[in-house]
Amino acid sequence: MSLDAAALVALDRAHLWRPYTSHEDHRNRPLLVVRAAEGCWLIGDDGRRYLDGNASWWVSALGHRHPRLVRAMRDQLDRLDHCALAGLTHEGAVRLAAELCSTAPAGLTRVFYSDDGSTAVEVALKIAVQSFAQNGEPERRRIVALAGAYHGDTAGAVSVGGIETFRRPYGPLLFEALRPPDPEHGEQGWERAVAWIEDELARSGASIAAVLVEPVVQGAAGMRIWPPRLLVRLREATRRAGSLLIADEVFTGFGRTGPMWACEHAGITPDLLCTAKALGGGMIPFAATLATETLYARFEGGLDRALFHGHSYCGNPIGCALALETLAVLREERVLEHARTKAARLAAGFDRLRRLPAVRRTRAIGMVAAADLGDGGYRGRLGWTVYERALERGAYLRPLGDTIYVAPALNISEPDLERLISIVHDAVGTL
Ligand SMILES: *Cc1c(COP(=O)(O)O)cnc(C)c1O
Repeated sequence: MSLDAAALVALDRAHLWRPYTSHEDHRNRPLLVVRAAEGCWLIGDDGRRYLDGNASWWVSALGHRHPRLVRAMRDQLDRLDHCALAGLTHEGAVRLAAELCSTAPAGLTRVFYSDDGSTAVEVALKIAVQSFAQNGEPERRRIVALAGAYHGDTAGAVSVGGIETFRRPYGPLLFEALRPPDPEHGEQGWERAVAWIEDELARSGASIAAVLVEPVVQGAAGMRIWPPRLLVRLREATRRAGSLLIADEVFTGFGRTGPMWACEHAGITPDLLCTAKALGGGMIPFAATLATETLYARFEGGLDRALFHGHSYCGNPIGCALALETLAVLREERVLEHARTKAARLAAGFDRLRRLPAVRRTRAIGMVAAADLGDGGYRGRLGWTVYERALERGAYLRPLGDTIYVAPALNISEPDLERLISIVHDAVGTL
């Protein structure tokens, strides 16, 4: 028996506590009840179909219920649902680790599994700090993190986050990170931030464990795109200082920005790479932190030198099966290759948005495009107006404050992509 939409919404308002949502909005904002999903479409209880403009918060890179992913999940369920990775192993965890290492930038040879993007980042931070603490450099423990950065919502991940709205209530729980000036918009700002980090590494590198970045695109900051050549400079500067470079590819990985990993734009290998979101096939939370053999070797020895981190579900067989099948589909359906022409259309579509009076700036890379409508940042409301207008026109476009963006499934059809772009134009045009 299923509840009708009105009953569902009433119960939702009575019992759910929603992410990133004020109680006011929870009470008053219309809630769309989703009954099903297929490919790039969400199917509402109202019988209408909505284009999923952000791949359901950046996870369903191959659309909803891709038949091969559904089959892989079912097949896995028929054999092994779960087993702990403590003293046990299973084929999926092993094969996936080997495959991730072979697709990742050369030199990443070890895989540590966890649950989601936030934990993948926590793991990277712990590896970084412990690796120095137990190898004669206990003072090397500071982390450089960028303004605008988003690395997840657990306390460690928020500590290295750079969006004030997400940090303000939790000050007492957070550790201090080193922060260069906010790059804001434009290459000059990014040049300044990177030069600041280079100076800091040259001056006090011996106290810096790692520099943490979202390579080439800062997602939650409003899809801020920065030049790959600056990532090359960060790689060189961290290496000179003996500090680590951590690439958070939770959003940018799996072809979102064009190549499989955003680090490939710069041709660099980070010391640690975090992946999640698309890794779980858009179906279940699943994450991994990749590391170099050098880092793995710094934990050589007995139990007192082991990495003390683990989650109940780490290396979950269903997650592994979904990740392996996602990699196979990307390869066999040549998804990234086909996404190239669509990326060009998307960029052109957002470029044209600049003619509209409400639009301040636009930008695009790979299958991501964004437009700034005001300067209210994350707390701005203009994006929400566009969100409502787009919903009326059949697209789900959750904004980042005054920034609207699309990040659809990589395998969206060309007609669906054109439709999404035209809904964005119409919705922004009403402002
Ligand atoms: C979403 C995101 C995270 C956090 O991932 P969760 O799965 O939500 O914990 C971390 N880093 C980046 C870059 C992200 O976009």
